[in-house]
Amino acid sequence: MRVLLSEDELNQGVSRLADEIDQHYEGRPLTVIAIMTGSLVLFADLIRRLSMPQRVGVIRASSYRGGTTSCDLQVDAGMMIDVTGRDVLLVDDIFDTGKTLERTSEMMKEFGAASVQTAVLLHKQREHLVQVRPNFVAFQIPDEFVVGYGLDYLDMYRNLPYLAVLDPAEIEATAAEVEL
Ligand code: 5GP
Ligand code: MG
Repeated sequence: MRVLLSEDELNQGVSRLADEIDQHYEGRPLTVIAIMTGSLVLFADLIRRLSMPQRVGVIRASSYRGGTTSCDLQVDAGMMIDVTGRDVLLVDDIFDTGKTLERTSEMMKEFGAASVQTAVLLHKQREHLVQVRPNFVAFQIPDEFVVGYGLDYLDMYRNLPYLAVLDPAEIEATAAEVEL
């Protein structure tokens, strides 16, 4: 695999992201929602760098089913906390087509959030399918399928401390291994 962002670079990016978010909210209380499962690692690092009082919650979205291309989006809000009247920050790993953040932002408004902003680690340079854009972005990356730092291929590689691009042989080998 080819490393795209090292552990050090990721650390610096998450710190910059936290600083921007801190400056925006100026200490006001925030409800921070992780879009599972891809944002798991980012979320843990990010909330510990933010300095305002926080409530944290999770929502689950999946659009990748067994491959590297996007399928129909499914959202499970079964574990959501109450966001009525709250300032909400949605945190996701990557902004690709944009459908996940568009749909989950709409849901937060339906749930009665006072405001909704979005933060992502990665912003893919490609044509997006929605009007909305993330409010806070740590890195712009080329349109390649990446894994590590929470991002998976077939639920593997999330534990890598760096971000990498898989080569075709690794994609094939992983698929064969997971199908065992
Ligand atoms: P969107 O709804 O913006 O198309 O996609 C967002 C979701 O697709 C992300 O939360 C992430 O789970 C998944 N995704 C998009 N691009 C990649 C990628 O390059 N690698 C991985 N592992 N997941 C991706
Ligand atoms: Mg995701």
